[in-house]
Amino acid sequence: MVIAAALAAACTTTASDSSAAAGTTDPIQQVDRAAMSQDEKTAVEATDTYWRRHFAEQFERPYTSPRVAGGYLGTDGPRCAGQPPVPFNAFYCPAGDFLAWDENLMASGYQQIGDAWVYLIIAHEWGHAIQARLDRALVSVAAELQADCLAGAALQGAAQDGSITVEPGDSEELARTLAAVADDYPWTTESDHGNAEQRISAFDTGARGGPTACV
Ligand SMILES: [Zn+2]
Repeated sequence: MVIAAALAAACTTTASDSSAAAGTTDPIQQVDRAAMSQDEKTAVEATDTYWRRHFAEQFERPYTSPRVAGGYLGTDGPRCAGQPPVPFNAFYCPAGDFLAWDENLMASGYQQIGDAWVYLIIAHEWGHAIQARLDRALVSVAAELQADCLAGAALQGAAQDGSITVEPGDSEELARTLAAVADDYPWTTESDHGNAEQRISAFDTGARGGPTACV
């Protein structure tokens, strides 16, 4: 999938591996939408709760929740700094301090990989909101890998806090999700997401070491 340069500074979680998107133009029609919406809701609540509980103690700054503009379809979503949303994408908009995602992106991964996809996409975009709340000196030039690391910290921390329950197969689903949204080449420049090994490694660093391991 092609990433819009306009949003590159914010985020672009885009399935560069077209296998996650292949086969249909309308994946939303092939999932249990109620179940997926419930997972989205749980992922939002668990991620927000984790950072509400732990951000201040970790970084000695106050935490405010970003707004969740939620799911859109195609281009029918919130604009960020005047730019329309990109179909089949998820992003954090710094100008509006909100997260949004295309439900078709969620649905394709939900169907082909599993519910961990939804948790990872939301926790990753939330990671960009966390970066926006950090001292700039703590924001890595490898911003996408740092967002993966912060996602690992939040999801593992939420599991430890009891906000979410880890099911058998979740860690494999998370690894498959990271592989599906990875670049085919290693990280070299700011806009890169990193290859599959780098994304999985970044997520694990956060899951094992917590938020401070990510900065
Ligand atoms: Zn990102």
